[in-house]
Amino acid sequence: MSSEVEKARKATKGGETIFSKIIDKVIPADIIHEDEQCIAFRDVNPQAPVHFLVIPRKRIAMLDDVNQDDAQLLGHLLLVAKDVAKKENLVDGYRLVINNGKDGAQSVFHLHIHVMGKRQMGWPPG
Ligand code: AMP
Repeated sequence: MSSEVEKARKATKGGETIFSKIIDKVIPADIIHEDEQCIAFRDVNPQAPVHFLVIPRKRIAMLDDVNQDDAQLLGHLLLVAKDVAKKENLVDGYRLVINNGKDGAQSVFHLHIHVMGKRQMGWPPG
């Protein structure tokens, strides 16, 4: 089992996460996009030559917690993922991943979309 999956199995929902600290600029991150609704920054433990995360400024722990009121925000996150992927020159394609909960291997309980590219992905995912 990878250390990331072990972390995810122990992670619990609730309270402030490291991503809130990145949004508040209390801790540094390599931020590659910012707007009024979300930010995107490079993953500190990249799983592909390009690997960044798109996260809402709104504190939403996981995909399970969204509702109809978040529909516009969720669409915006996908559009930002696509636009930043283009800026990162991911012309041959890329993968989006949302890990949700323990079985989904979610380790940080602030909703985030992984965007990975610049290598051939496999299927099925691990
Ligand atoms: P997940 O397993 O889907 O919850 O993914 C959390 C991701 O956040 C992992 O890929 C981590 O490498 C990444 N991560 C954790 N802390 C930081 C940080 N301070 N800066 C950037 N990425 C981080």
